[in-house]
Formats: sequence, C-alpha cells, structure tokens
Amino acid sequence: MLEVKGVTKSFGTGDRTVTAVNNVTMAVPDGEFAAIVGRSGSGKSTLMNLLGALERPTSGMIFVDGQDITRLGRGELVQYRRRSIGFVFQSYNLIPNLSSTENVMLPMEFAGVGKDERRQRARSLLDQVELTGGKQHRRPGKLSGGEQQRVAIARALANSPRLILADEPVGNLDTQTSGTVIELLRSLAHARGTTVVAVTHDLSLADRADRVFRLQDGRLQAAGGSGPAPSAAGAEARESGR
Ligand code: ADP
Ligand code: MG
Repeated sequence: MLEVKGVTKSFGTGDRTVTAVNNVTMAVPDGEFAAIVGRSGSGKSTLMNLLGALERPTSGMIFVDGQDITRLGRGELVQYRRRSIGFVFQSYNLIPNLSSTENVMLPMEFAGVGKDERRQRARSLLDQVELTGGKQHRRPGKLSGGEQQRVAIARALANSPRLILADEPVGNLDTQTSGTVIELLRSLAHARGTTVVAVTHDLSLADRADRVFRLQDGRLQAAGGSGPAPSAAGAEARESGR
C-alpha cells in the first residue's frame, strides 16, 4: 500500500517560492495500476520524485508498506530506491553499450545478486515483457522504442520492487506501441501485485488505469481514488467510462 498524506513540495524562497505539489493526499493499494494526469507544470514529475525518494517533501508523509519514507536516513534511502522502487522513464535511460540482458542485470549487481542468477533472472524478466530470442543480446540502439521501453520495464522489475514509478512511459511511442506497453504495465501490476504509478498525458493510458489522480497547479482534483467521498468515486467511474 502506498499512502501519501498532506504532502507539499515547494522550491525556492520568499517571493520566488513555487509550490509544485500542494497538500496532496492519496492512496494506492498493492497491485493496482494508478495514473497521474495533468497539464505540463501541474506537479506530476515532482510528485513522482517524492514517491521515489529522489526529493524530500517540504511537509507531509509518504508511507510505503507502513514505513514513512520521508524519514529515512541517507543509507536507508539508497536501499529504498534500490530495492523497493523500479523507475521507468520516457527516455528509457538504458546503457547504450550493454545488451538488453546486461541492462536488466545491472540493478541486481548493485543489490549483490550473483552473476549466474542475475543472468537467469534477467532472461526470465525479458521473457515476461516479451522481448525474446536474439533481441535479448542486442544493444538498445538496435531495438525499437517500444522494445527499449520493455527492456526498461524488465530492468525496473529486476529487484522485485514494491512499487514501479513510470514518468510518461509512453511519451515517445506511437499509439499502437503505447497500447501494448500500457497493457504490460497493467498486467504486471495485477499479476505480480506490484503497485504501478504512471504519469501520462495519454488519455488511453488513464483509461486503462484502476484509478486516476488528476493534478492541477499542484493540487489533487477530486477525480478518483483519493478518498471515500462518493463524488470522487462517481467522477472516477465517469472518467474511465465505467
Ligand atoms: P509536470 O511534471 O506536471 O510537468 P513538474 O513537477 O515538473 O510538473 O513541475 C511543477 C512546477 O514546479 C513547475 O512550475 C516547475 O517549474 C516547478 N519545479 C519543478 N522542479 C523544480 C525545481 N527543481 N526548482 C524549481 N522549480 C521547480
Ligand atoms: Mg513531468
């Protein structure tokens, strides 16, 4: 379970303060696929960085499996990012001179997994994201965008994280490829019980999500899943066409 309680993040000081995330409260149960939508500048990436403990909030608490990650010390933070979180980015961020398999093995090396097991697990993860055969030995430059994002998703799964954070994961992909990557993220959430939070501009991604959080000027709109209010549930159902 991911729980965000009254989280605010401001940048700068005095007159120049920008409140990128403003008193956000939300929860995502284990194994759900949640989408965060909103215009450019609405605070989506800042919220993701807070969830991934890449930034600390100005105020508020973030609980992952009951532990407030905003209170972790430096060493604990490194462990949290390595073991509990899988990051997926719009630009894939694969290492160009490593093969698909080697890219997926890398986070396991940081986690101290032995080489044979790393290779075996990487192959199995690549099979799961349906990147098979010779493509497992190719470098990212020899793969399509959708294939590269599959490798990135397999890499995000490498250390069996509790949470996958995907910032605009289909931002660089065509509509059809986006659809298959979205379905992959959704099925991983449901099949593995891994919570997936994905930022998107793409309404078809939001449509496939179990819940949708809408940010506007850093504030969460009453659009779904953030609380028990009946109006919020109704808005979510309308939004997803259910
Ligand atoms: P989104 O991802 O929805 O486009 P961001 O979270 O990137 O939005 O940004 C939200 C707001 O916070 C914007 O006004 C942006 O300029 C500001 N912002 C984000 N990061 C920083 C930072 N490191 N320093 C100052 N302002 C920032
Ligand atoms: Mg962003």
